[in-house]
Amino acid sequence: MICSFCSKHRQEVAVLIAGPGVLICNECISVCFVEMSKVMLRKTEPEKACGITRADRLDSRVGELQAENTELRLEIEHLLAERNE
Ligand SMILES: [Zn+2]
Repeated sequence: MICSFCSKHRQEVAVLIAGPGVLICNECISVCFVEMSKVMLRKTEPEKACGITRADRLDSRVGELQAENTELRLEIEHLLAERNE
């Protein structure tokens, strides 16, 4: 009995699982699991595919808020100056 994917013999692996006409070993299952996890991660974080991460998005939002904050501070200073005239 050998793994249908990597051709390792039953004695070379810890587990060999039988499917209809095929066998798969624990090592190949691990490889499949890692690959599947990568695909699933890509599906749940589509922004990553186009190079924009969640961190990038948050950084850009922080930048926007800081700019708004500066504008507000300037407006407040202006209004206070006007009131004290
Ligand atoms: Zn295998």
